[in-house]
Amino acid sequence: MSNMMSRAETRFPAVDVPEGKLLIDGQWVEGATGTRIPVVNPATEQVFAYVASASAEDVGRAVEAAHRRFESRSWQNMRPLDRGRLLETLALLIEARAEELATLESWDNGKPYAVSRHVDLAFTIDALRYYGGWASKMAGEYLTLSPFFDDGGTYRAYTERRPVGVVGGITPWNFPLGQAIQKIAPAIAFGCTVVLKPSELTSLTTLRLGELICEAGFPDGAVNIVTGYGDPVGSALVAHPMVRKIAFTGSTETGRKILAAASADMKRVTLELGGKSPTVVLADADMEQAIPGAAMAIFGNSGQVCTAGSRLIVQSEVFDQVVEGVAEFASKLTIGHAFEPDVTIGPLVSDRQLDRVSGMVEQGIADGADLVAGGERLSGTGFYYPPTVLRNVRPDARIAREEIFGPVVVASRLEDLKSLKAAANDTDYGLGASIWTRDLNKAHLLAAQIDSGTVWINTHNILDTAMPFGGVKMSGLGREFGSEAINAFTEPKAVCMRLDPAVLE
Ligand code: NAD
Repeated sequence: MSNMMSRAETRFPAVDVPEGKLLIDGQWVEGATGTRIPVVNPATEQVFAYVASASAEDVGRAVEAAHRRFESRSWQNMRPLDRGRLLETLALLIEARAEELATLESWDNGKPYAVSRHVDLAFTIDALRYYGGWASKMAGEYLTLSPFFDDGGTYRAYTERRPVGVVGGITPWNFPLGQAIQKIAPAIAFGCTVVLKPSELTSLTTLRLGELICEAGFPDGAVNIVTGYGDPVGSALVAHPMVRKIAFTGSTETGRKILAAASADMKRVTLELGGKSPTVVLADADMEQAIPGAAMAIFGNSGQVCTAGSRLIVQSEVFDQVVEGVAEFASKLTIGHAFEPDVTIGPLVSDRQLDRVSGMVEQGIADGADLVAGGERLSGTGFYYPPTVLRNVRPDARIAREEIFGPVVVASRLEDLKSLKAAANDTDYGLGASIWTRDLNKAHLLAAQIDSGTVWINTHNILDTAMPFGGVKMSGLGREFGSEAINAFTEPKAVCMRLDPAVLE
């Protein structure tokens, strides 16, 4: 294996995508302005499809459809088990078309086909099944009260979970289909309806999903899909008064704008944002696992993962061994077109992302960082950037502090365990972290010291719908997945009653 690329051309698969259309109220319709966004294959740089560039007017129609469906008697009365069955039916339809959808994802996003098929599609199908099971498990509590006055009555209360209403889902480009399901599945499970806006860079699998949603028998308007740019489409969704909750995954910069805009009418928000996650390797770690683990923590999906281990913190005794080991591992990864055999690293999603990653690395080197591996965009066609390792980076350098969202890791030494808390938490973010050690004492004591939504021990980037996911600090607000999802898509309502004991006298 080598990281030399060959640029196999692959023909666009004969996949039925409702190109240039929006899904509103169960119908595929043209956008009001008729304008379209070209879709570029990141490996070939060729335009191979178009999606509609929707307007605020289109968003309004979609939200109204979602609201009508939400308020309809048929939706309000639908048995929770039947909402679960819709999700299970969709899972079966996707499962039967997993190869087709994975192919489409790889064309659109550029990621290796094996990743699309065994990560994105596997997650998508599992998440639908997981949330399908939740639909029938919404439950409140029965409460006994202790009133602070005595009016002769006795008080009881119960809580029930009510769906928030119309959910606006806004998703990024790194795991397009999985992110769409991450919004749609819990919303439907808990009785909400949805207007989803995928990233303008990677909308195709979400559009194909829309067709399967119709085929699965979702009622018209339960899920609507509007493609287009963040502004006006995403911003119109956030501004619309009938949208009661925004479920957003994307950058911290956009998340901040959404939080500010949502304050106008107190919309509920969950924000899954960026990260600068540490991978911590202690001297006693099993290096045969830790070195490939640290490498794939950052190089997997070309580093375009919100929890990517972009800060490698290594105990001094093993610093050179780990950094050189990660660089050597990187040199053996096969970079190339999604459909080439043995490819592990695909291109970045866009020329803009490539410019951003290469610009940040150049600036990091100019600021004094030592380049251990990679560091220069690959020549030829495609938005390829090699796995890159930097060390001796100033802690205040931009490359040490900002999310790069590319296959670039910044390595630093850890002189003693007492300084790990400060080193790991020296970031505005708090999404993920991993600790590699054979010592359980150290693992659990240090895990408690790291400020992040998830800490992995001897692994990295294991996501499971059973495990709550989200970030602290600038990495976001709220949690998705697990039993936490119920809080994200429902409101608790307390019903309090006075019982009169006199009736029994
Ligand atoms: P982005 O913030 O640029 O875009 C995300 C989505 O928001 C897109 O659909 C975009 O069109 C939309 N958007 C842009 N401006 C908007 C606005 N003003 N109002 C409403 N919507 C708007 O992010 P991206 O570049 O697509 O994705 C990469 C980012 O996503 C990274 O920062 C990454 O860390 C983050 N991410 C986070 C998670 C997580 O779960 N925490 C997962 C994946 C990606």
